[in-house]
Amino acid sequence: MHIEYGADLAPLNTFRVPARASALLRLRSPGEARDLLRRPALLARPVLVMGGGSNLLFTADWEGLVVLPQMLDREIIETQGDTVTVAGGAGESWDGFVRWTLGLGLGGLENLALIPGTLGAAPIQNIGAYGVELRDSLLWVETLDLRGGRAERFYNADCGFAYRDSVFKREPGRRLITRVAFRLSRKPELELDYGEIREELAAGKIADPTAAQVAAAVSAIRRRKLPDPAQIGNAGSFFRNPVVPEAQAARLREEHPAMPQFAAYGGVKIPAGWLIEACGWKGRRSGDAGVHAGHALVLVNHGRATGSQIASLAQQIQASVADRFGITLEPEVRIV
Ligand SMILES: Cc1cc2nc3c(=O)[nH]c(=O)nc-3n(C[C@H](O)[C@H](O)[C@H](O)COP(=O)(O)OP(=O)(O)OC[C@H]3O[C@@H](n4cnc5c(N)ncnc54)[C@H](O)[C@@H]3O)c2cc1C
Repeated sequence: MHIEYGADLAPLNTFRVPARASALLRLRSPGEARDLLRRPALLARPVLVMGGGSNLLFTADWEGLVVLPQMLDREIIETQGDTVTVAGGAGESWDGFVRWTLGLGLGGLENLALIPGTLGAAPIQNIGAYGVELRDSLLWVETLDLRGGRAERFYNADCGFAYRDSVFKREPGRRLITRVAFRLSRKPELELDYGEIREELAAGKIADPTAAQVAAAVSAIRRRKLPDPAQIGNAGSFFRNPVVPEAQAARLREEHPAMPQFAAYGGVKIPAGWLIEACGWKGRRSGDAGVHAGHALVLVNHGRATGSQIASLAQQIQASVADRFGITLEPEVRIV
């Protein structure tokens, strides 16, 4: 087991903000994960499990242990007619795993193509995009309880999935996700009615798409719309889209007739990006911390911003949205 002390976390987070960890440990096998449990002194300090660092903002050094699960493997577990169960290790790249399933002729994950990060992190916030969420096809999640030491399997219904949420997210540092399985289909029902998927397919003259063609369309739209963390530091959507009760939504509609609203999650979803743009933040910057010029929901690091500067910008945005619309924006990104 190799422990790196005073590890540099800047290259390991997609905001590229400076931070260090007192200690960092890469876990390359389930055996190494079990070894960690035999080192209580390491686990006595705060533990941060990290994947690709694409949903984290460091505002300070991590005074404790950072664990990077890097278990790699992909496996077909079972085939029953057109339904195929597949699983993979926590360290697999999410997009690489999606592409592997598409290569097997399996559908279910196509709308989630090109989301950054690892397979092990995907259940944490029940990743979602283009009308599909991870929970729609997830079968189970295997975890290691870092406090009790037990290996546990959570089936879909036990994961407490909700909009960008799960039981794992609600107890950060408690469980390390080691393996994730999905039930996919050779004859998937494709979700084409979200965003610009149909337009993208029509532009490519594709009338009856395969899952792989939907993934290619989604990827092309994402490349056009979202800033690439390799070019400019960011963590995708910084805030969750607020979901408000119908009565509040009706009042807001009256005051702001142009406000987009969608029935979702038992309430009314309002695009956070619209609220931020309406408050005049799109494209603004404070030093190197900024709001992306093309997508108001994405905060960016123009070069040398610290995590605290980005967090402070986020607080100013929250205050102005609360002031103008009476809505509290909640970060989707985990601020540490
Ligand atoms: C350009 C861009 C676009 C994005 N688009 C989307 C999108 O469309 N939809 C969406 O939902 N998200 C999106 N995201 C956010 C992000 O990609 C996802 O949340 C992703 O799942 C994070 O994976 P990660 O490996 O980088 O996790 P990290 O950022 O490293 O960690 C995120 C959280 O998961 C925990 N964690 C990580 N791995 C494990 C593990 N193995 N066991 C236990 N806990 C763990 C961490 O402690 C942390 O709380 C986007 C991000 C970027 C940069």
